[in-house]
Amino acid sequence: PYEQVLKIRQRNLSASLITYYKKPLLIHQGHMQWLFDSEGRRYLDLFGGIVTISVGQCHPKVMVAAQKQLGRLWHTTNIHLHPSLHEYAVKLTALFPEPLKVLYLTNSGSEANDLAMLMARCYTQSFDIINLRGGYHGSSPYTLGLTAVGLYKYAIANSFGCHATICPDVYRGIWGGSHCRDSPVQTTRKCCCSPDCCEAKDRYIEQLKEMLNTCVPRRIAGFIAESIQGLGGVVQYPKEFLKEAYQLIRARGGVCIADEVQTGFARTGSHFWGFQSHDIIPDIVTMAKGIANGFPMAAVVTSKEISDSLNHAMHFNTFGGNPVACAIGSAVLDVIEEDGLQRNSEAVGTYMLLELAKLQDKFNIIGDVRGKGLMIGVEMVTDQESRKPLPPEEVNLIWEDCKEMGVVIGKGGLYGQVFRIKPPMCITVEDVDFAIAVFSAALTRQMERR
Ligand code: PMP
Repeated sequence: PYEQVLKIRQRNLSASLITYYKKPLLIHQGHMQWLFDSEGRRYLDLFGGIVTISVGQCHPKVMVAAQKQLGRLWHTTNIHLHPSLHEYAVKLTALFPEPLKVLYLTNSGSEANDLAMLMARCYTQSFDIINLRGGYHGSSPYTLGLTAVGLYKYAIANSFGCHATICPDVYRGIWGGSHCRDSPVQTTRKCCCSPDCCEAKDRYIEQLKEMLNTCVPRRIAGFIAESIQGLGGVVQYPKEFLKEAYQLIRARGGVCIADEVQTGFARTGSHFWGFQSHDIIPDIVTMAKGIANGFPMAAVVTSKEISDSLNHAMHFNTFGGNPVACAIGSAVLDVIEEDGLQRNSEAVGTYMLLELAKLQDKFNIIGDVRGKGLMIGVEMVTDQESRKPLPPEEVNLIWEDCKEMGVVIGKGGLYGQVFRIKPPMCITVEDVDFAIAVFSAALTRQMERR
């Protein structure tokens, strides 16, 4: 029935929903880090439904928790108290430092970021929000203003009050190339911390200052950034950039929003939240994707003071805090702990980064290998000297070949030139060896084609 499903897709689903691959996969089943298509072929899933399968497809412990809750209570909305929401609120907020102890549950990352912007604006009584070019924060009309990727925007006014500053990309940014980032693989393969390195960071900060001067009346509502840019192409900033940016924003009366939609829930290995590696404490944190291993749920965590600024109005959503979602979210937190997934993310992620760096030595079309834990980017270029993005046709050939050999990888970057590797955190070293062998074979084929 593959052809039939494809027809339904074309006739009955919006064409604005893109599919991956020339021949899209028809997935019938998933098990942990594996996907199975309609012909029973198995794929190692290095993209996890866009960084969302955090603990593994159909994880047995999560299934038991979901089934238990499905037999007990499905839905009440927040007008009633129910145990699973309140148990979850305690568990999730325990993972945050003071004063981040107030939880608001939503249904998607876009909705969470919408709410974060609203909170920032209500709390500061200012309007302007600053974001980094290349970031992605959602597809709602409000968050589209933050999404500094033109491809996702429509020819409608949705950027009002949102100002994208330069992206401090250590590889492709205009002052990039030689400075320190928080990854087992450095751009120059050595940690520099040289005056050059600090100078580049200082220049990015200068750009941010200039941007702040364009805001009216030079008071701003907030600043939003991912800890590592996801869709933007696993972009890492120079060390200390976010810390200094937070200081600047706060000096102008703004609040700092950490978008942890991709980097949260142990993904980056060394810490549970991505912002922790930047030595900062945000005022508002948004999360989604991996929060419930694919079940629709998202959240905003902030301080009581900021949350209370919404009290002059009622902010309502029907499904937020759904009992089944909360039971699943709670089980996901247990599984991350019990299965040691943060440790696994760090160990297997570092192993993979170092293996990919070896491929970079072999293949001149790998320009950069970066990331932390299981948030990995491989930037493809025409050659390492010029750093020119590899044209999409070439990137796609490698990507299709990987799929044919049983490995599903994500893509991103402003030119579609970055492979994104963000698998379920249960992935093993053996899986990485398989993925590296496949990737290497696909790169070899591409070099032969050139
Ligand atoms: N923030 C980030 C960093 C994201 O990657 C995404 C989704 N790709 C969102 C927000 C929006 O989340 P959602 O698609 O659940 O609305």
